Amino acid sequence: MINIKKKTIVIASNNPGKIKEMSYYLKKINSKILVSKNFKLKEPEENGKTFEQNALIKARYVNKRLGRIALADDSGLVVPSLQGKPGIYSARLAGKNRNFSLAMKKLNSLLFRKKPNAYYISVLAFSWGKKREKTFTGKIFGNLTWPPRGCFGFGYDPIFVPNGYNKTFGEIKESIKNKISHRAIAFKKFVDFLN
Ligand code: IMP
Repeated sequence: MINIKKKTIVIASNNPGKIKEMSYYLKKINSKILVSKNFKLKEPEENGKTFEQNALIKARYVNKRLGRIALADDSGLVVPSLQGKPGIYSARLAGKNRNFSLAMKKLNSLLFRKKPNAYYISVLAFSWGKKREKTFTGKIFGNLTWPPRGCFGFGYDPIFVPNGYNKTFGEIKESIKNKISHRAIAFKKFVDFLN
């Protein structure tokens, strides 16, 4: 077990949407937060075949390079009727410029059924030394809608409607998304582990 409360945790990400959400949870547990993008590190190659492998690649890399406790999130949108696409390629579908309007259009062009089931998954990887690492997974189920609605959140949020709601994550206030999302569920497991 590791007592990280009041310790510094480096968020291993360059994605502003994720950094904002991860900072929200880390502040709640009283951690000091740094962000890897401020250290001018190269990004490691995400060549894992699963969310878990990619999350560990990112967390281990930052832990090793900076010698600090690192937390990474590998996440994405999974559409079972598209054999799990875009899955671990969720960010890559948006191209180098991370153009999510384009990514949502590309995804919609693959969909023949209206409002297909989909889920978001977040795998957090926590790395605090060599072979000292643990992962935590959260999922939220819902369906996709078209056209995109709302401007909250990031990525695919304007087309994702969580089960039990009639609004997209793009229309649901941040305070609600932060309570119910895939990342919220993964962080709850992370916090339980710390306690
Ligand atoms: P990666 O984990 O950095 O490879 O990227 C994950 C990608 O999944 C993001 O760039 C988004 O496209 C998508 N994604 C993950 N979580 C969310 C979310 O909470 N809202 C919207 N899109 C998300």
